[in-house]
Amino acid sequence: MQHVYDLAVIGGGINGCGIARDAAGRGLSVFLCEMGDLGSGTSSRSTKLIHGGLRYLEQYDFRLVREALAEREVLWRIAPHIVRPLRFVLPHTTGLRPAWMLRIGLFLYDHLGGRERLPGTRVVDLAADAAGGPLKAGLFTTGFEYSDCWVDDARLVVLNARDAADRGAAIRTRSRCVAAKRDAGLWNLTLADAGTGGKETVAARALVNAAGPWVGEVSAASLGLNAPERVRLVQGSHIVVPKLFDHDRAYIFQNPDGRVVFAIPYEGDFTLIGTTDRDYRGDPAAVAATPEEIAYLCEAAGAAFAKAVRPSDVVWTYSGVRPLFDDGASDAKAASRDYVLEMDEKSGAAPLLSVIGGKITTYRRLAEAVLERLGGQLPPRLGLAAGWTGTTPLPGGEFEPEEMPLLAARLARSYPFLAEAHADRLTRAYGARAARVLGRAKSTADLGQDFGATLTEAEVRYLVEHEWACTAEDVVWRRSKLGLRLSTAQIAALDGWMRER
Ligand SMILES: Cc1cc2nc3c(=O)[nH]c(=O)nc-3n(C[C@H](O)[C@H](O)[C@H](O)COP(=O)(O)OP(=O)(O)OC[C@H]3O[C@@H](n4cnc5c(N)ncnc54)[C@H](O)[C@@H]3O)c2cc1C
Repeated sequence: MQHVYDLAVIGGGINGCGIARDAAGRGLSVFLCEMGDLGSGTSSRSTKLIHGGLRYLEQYDFRLVREALAEREVLWRIAPHIVRPLRFVLPHTTGLRPAWMLRIGLFLYDHLGGRERLPGTRVVDLAADAAGGPLKAGLFTTGFEYSDCWVDDARLVVLNARDAADRGAAIRTRSRCVAAKRDAGLWNLTLADAGTGGKETVAARALVNAAGPWVGEVSAASLGLNAPERVRLVQGSHIVVPKLFDHDRAYIFQNPDGRVVFAIPYEGDFTLIGTTDRDYRGDPAAVAATPEEIAYLCEAAGAAFAKAVRPSDVVWTYSGVRPLFDDGASDAKAASRDYVLEMDEKSGAAPLLSVIGGKITTYRRLAEAVLERLGGQLPPRLGLAAGWTGTTPLPGGEFEPEEMPLLAARLARSYPFLAEAHADRLTRAYGARAARVLGRAKSTADLGQDFGATLTEAEVRYLVEHEWACTAEDVVWRRSKLGLRLSTAQIAALDGWMRER
C-alpha cells in the first residue's frame, strides 16, 4: 500500500523548508518537492538581511516590523555560524527624510521588540568616524548607526532542509510537482524528475503550496484551481563590486526617489549593492539584472561614495522575484512585505494552504502560522511543541554566538595544515559541523582534488551526500559563494568532475 504523508510541501525555498522542518519536528510525516535546487528561487537572491525593515515603519507595517525585529536574535542564536550582527550607518541627507523622522524610526526600531544582545542606535559624526571616510567629502555630516543581522540565505534554506530530513522528512530535489488532485480525503501529487522526466506519485493528507513566485502557476497549472488572485511579482537586483571600504559596517543610503539602497561588506573582498523594485511579468526563472538596474545601482552608490562606481566595476549580479501579497499599492516599492496564508478547504476534502509573500527574516514564524492554520486538519502526533524551532539550533549552530572565533581556532588546531582563511570559511559555512567536512584528513592531500579557492573534493562530497548538491552551480553559488573566486574554467572542471563522479 502507498505511504500516506501527513503533509506535502511544494517548493524548497526558505518558506517550504522552514515549514518542513517545523512539521517534522512536531512528529508529522513530511514530503517536500523542489523542482530545481534547494533555494534556487528567490531565497538565494535576497539582500541577506535579517531585519525589522526600517522602511516598513513608513508604511505602518508594525506587525511585520515587530515580528521581524524579534526574529533577528532568535535566528542569530539558532544559527550563529551563518547569521551575524551587522551595524548599519544611515547618513542623514539634507532635503530627504528629516533627522527627527529618522530618530523616531530608530527609536521604535530599538524598542518595538526582542532586542537583548544587539547594540542600540547611536549618532555618528561622519567627519570624525571611520564610516565617513569612504563617503563623498562634505556631503554628509551626521549619521545614525543601528543593528540588524546578516544571513547566508541559501545556506539557511539548506540547513532547514537538512534538519527536516534528520527528523524524518523526505526532501526530493529536481522533482517538479506537475499535478495534484484531491481524492478520498487525500492529495495525490504527480512528480516529474527533472533529469529523466520519470513520474512518480505521492499521497498526503494536507498540501502546502510554497512555490514562491510560482505560487499562482502551481495553483492554476498543477492543482487546476484558481490562482491566488492577489500575488504581485516584484523584481529586485543586486550588483557586486570590489570592496569600496575596509570597515565591517554596512551603509543604508536614502535615494532621491524615496527608496533606500544598501552597500554591504560581502565575502571579504567585495561590496554588495542593492536593490531595485520593479513589477515583473514572465517566468521567474528567467529573471536577470537589466542594464538599467545596474546603472541605477551604480549611480546610487556613486552618489554617496567618494569613489565612482561604474557598470564596468561590476563582477557579479543577481536578481530575484519577490512574491508579494498585492495590497493594491500603486508603487512596487510600497507593496507590503508581510505574508498572507490562503486556505482552501471543503468539508471532507484534504486541505490546501497557499503561502503568499513573506521574508527570509520571518520564515520561522510563517511556518508556525502555517501549522497553526492546518492544526485541526493534521493528525495528532507525538513530537516537539509549537515554538521549538526558535530554541533548537540548526545543523552546525550548536554553540553560543560568542564562541564563533573559538570555533575557527579549534578547527585550525585540529587540522593544522589548513590555511587560516580556509578554516575561517569552513567555520562560517558549517559551524560546529566543519570537522565532518574534513573527516580524518591529516594533510591537504587527504582532502582529495583541489578545485581552487580552498574548495576540495572532501567538501564537495560532503555537499553531495548531506546537502543535496548536484551541480557545480549548486556548490559555487548556493552552498558557497566561491563562484566569486573561481574562474569559468575551474567551475567547468568541477561540473565535469561532479557529473562523472
Ligand atoms: C531582491 C530581493 C531582496 C530581498 N531581500 C530580503 C532581505 O534582505 N531579507 C529578507 O528577509 N527577505 C528578503 N527578500 C524576500 C525573500 O527573499 C523572499 O520573500 C523569500 O525568499 C521567499 O521564499 P519562498 O520560499 O516563498 O520562495 P522561493 O525561494 O522562490 O521558493 C519557492 C520554490 O518553489 C519551487 N517551485 C516552484 N514551482 C514548483 C513546482 N511545480 N514543483 C516543485 N517546486 C516548485 C521553486 O523552484 C523555488 O525554489 C528579498 C527578496 C528579493 C527578491
